[in-house]
Amino acid sequence: GPLIGVLALQGDVREHLAALEASGARAVAVRRHAELAEVDGLVLPGGESTTMSRLLEIFEMLEPLRERISDGMPAYGSCAGMILLANKVLDGRPDQHQIGGLDAIVRRNAFGRQVDSFEEDLPFKELDGPVHAVFIRAPWVESVAGDVEVLATVPDTPNAGAAAGRIVAVRQGRVLATAFHPELTGDTRVHRLFVEMVTEEK
Ligand code: GLN
Repeated sequence: GPLIGVLALQGDVREHLAALEASGARAVAVRRHAELAEVDGLVLPGGESTTMSRLLEIFEMLEPLRERISDGMPAYGSCAGMILLANKVLDGRPDQHQIGGLDAIVRRNAFGRQVDSFEEDLPFKELDGPVHAVFIRAPWVESVAGDVEVLATVPDTPNAGAAAGRIVAVRQGRVLATAFHPELTGDTRVHRLFVEMVTEEK
């Protein structure tokens, strides 16, 4: 399978490495420029986007990442990773950096700061059958532009409240992003979709 990196500055790196290995890829932690140069695709994990942003600066990884993504390297961002990939963020910290590459506006901590987590089964466009989505202090996609394709929205259930109808998974060409954490559920279909995207590109 392809060699896929997981950005390993902060966040749930191990879970993504395991999900990628279970999906037929070879997975490797990426912290440095030289490691980034080796991979065919990259996962940006969940965690804390402001902390990752600071570490990306310290490790001098912002520009190399922007370059590889604009050169067409497939990237998948989950939760904090989705925030980092968005071209614009609402409710971010003023000093928070974006890697960018996804033509969308993403609202950080959108489900409400007091809402620690929320789970829902969602239909997901490129997959058969619903995905059990786990949201943890999650963002949502406020709006999309250009050729961004919406893959999943929060269904209108009593549980969903104000989140009903919100966009929580998108794809724009080689960039995939989910507001939720498929790496935590044992369902590898989203990772398999990303592995396919990387394999096609290779
Ligand atoms: N709230 C976090 C942030 O702003 C994201 C949470 C997550 O990745 N589970 O980065």
